[in-house]
Amino acid sequence: MNNLLNYIAGTWQEPSNGLWLDNPEPATGEIFSRIPDSGEQDIQMAVESAKKAFPIWSGMSVEERSRIMLNIAQGMKDAFDALAEAESKDQGKPLSLSRVMDIPRAIQNIEFFATEIIHFASESHGGKGVVNYTVHAPIGIVGCISPWNLPLYLFTWKIAPALATGNCVIAKPSELTPFTATLFAEICMKAGLPDGVLNIVHGSGLQAGSAIVAHPEITAISFTGGTVTGRHIASIAAPMFKKLSLELGGKNPSIIFADCDFEETVTQAVRSAFTNQGEICLCGSRILIEESLYEKFRDAFIEKVQQLKVGDPFEAGTNIGALVSKAHMEKVMSYIELAQEEGGTILCGGKIVSPEGRCKNGWFIEPTVIEGLNNSCRTNQEEIFGPVVTLQSFSNEEEALLLANGTRYGLAANVWTQHLGRAHRMANALEFGIVWVNCWLLRDLRTPFGGMKDSGVGREGGFEVLRFFTETKNVCVKF
Ligand code: NDP
Repeated sequence: MNNLLNYIAGTWQEPSNGLWLDNPEPATGEIFSRIPDSGEQDIQMAVESAKKAFPIWSGMSVEERSRIMLNIAQGMKDAFDALAEAESKDQGKPLSLSRVMDIPRAIQNIEFFATEIIHFASESHGGKGVVNYTVHAPIGIVGCISPWNLPLYLFTWKIAPALATGNCVIAKPSELTPFTATLFAEICMKAGLPDGVLNIVHGSGLQAGSAIVAHPEITAISFTGGTVTGRHIASIAAPMFKKLSLELGGKNPSIIFADCDFEETVTQAVRSAFTNQGEICLCGSRILIEESLYEKFRDAFIEKVQQLKVGDPFEAGTNIGALVSKAHMEKVMSYIELAQEEGGTILCGGKIVSPEGRCKNGWFIEPTVIEGLNNSCRTNQEEIFGPVVTLQSFSNEEEALLLANGTRYGLAANVWTQHLGRAHRMANALEFGIVWVNCWLLRDLRTPFGGMKDSGVGREGGFEVLRFFTETKNVCVKF
């Protein structure tokens, strides 16, 4: 059994309480490693090491910090195959996806913030005999808590800007997907990251995660995960006046007008619905189709969905891998049952899959398409976060907007139309932090990223996140 250890003060550490959590492979259901079930004591050790490292790291020039981060990115490139395989084994996603999306993007996150920090300027306001200038100083010790769906991708998306701005980090990956963060620690050791600058503490959200959120010396929390967890974290951190960035759940609409580029739209709607088993916060899970196109779109969409191959993440040709855990698979299945109780018709999928061979006990569900539900039912209001989408029709732009905006979430919407004016009108009226027009998941890391309403608070990406991870101070000098 492989024990994945905590990375604290530049060294590997076992859990102080001696307790471990099993880590299974979703595709087989078999336990292949264990992680520390860390608690307050481990977080305290991490804080002590970060405190020691902070003057060293924050005292370096941005060029020195940038160089070390670029060394880390190079180490990730050297370890590309191992990282991709670890991600798929741990998370259940197709290896082909880890190779084209997760690991390249994780490397890009480190490279992007390593170079962006060099261009992070501050403002100055001149006056008569006086000058004001703004300083963006590192905060100190920050906590980064990330989820299981895009493990290394979202882990690095948080820690890279935190490190680039000179902070020391206590990071907790999801207990379900700890593997690539551990390989990442090894890479940091070799790349010359000073001890204690990054501390990775494994464990459960309730124990290790809570200890990070409640620790008085961790003064900013960057969290990505579910809305319920985000609300709980805010209730602990807000009264302590911690800086908070919350990237939460979504129930995203794909809005399809009759004047769309049909073939491209069908292809992209399938991709948006089922990439990563539908376990991406940005997946379009409510597909809204203009009435006049509804049947044609539905039939073409289903034909494509039925071609998706569910199975072993390590087999070439697999499009849909395993869901991350048995509990999550059961949750997704319970929504498929609920959809039927609510009057929905399953057009395809809806069942658990048991592939032949080594994956027969894995956690797989067929890609599932449901129609006949109204917008207010639970299936269309609650985040399922799996390979399940619903189809609804609308008669005009106004109704499309009512349906699209008619949930408590506001993360991402995608709109498909060739009509320029309509595209802009829709983008203007959609209550979502991200609107994609004629594309999906096309990312430019310089842009603000985050959700409205119950999908979160604050924006990541670009200079926005560098401002989040710094304290802003104005200095006024009279001369
Ligand atoms: P959770 O909210 O369950 O967990 C997210 C992280 O928080 C995990 O590391 C978890 O640890 C930890 N955690 C859980 N409870 C606490 C707590 N009380 N205090 C501190 N930390 C805690 O989300 P999931 O991992 O299930 O991820 C799926 C969710 O993430 C979906 O809702 C999805 O939409 C959202 N998400 C949002 C994104 C965005 O950018 N807006 C991007 C990706 C996902 P552990 O795993 O050990 O429980």
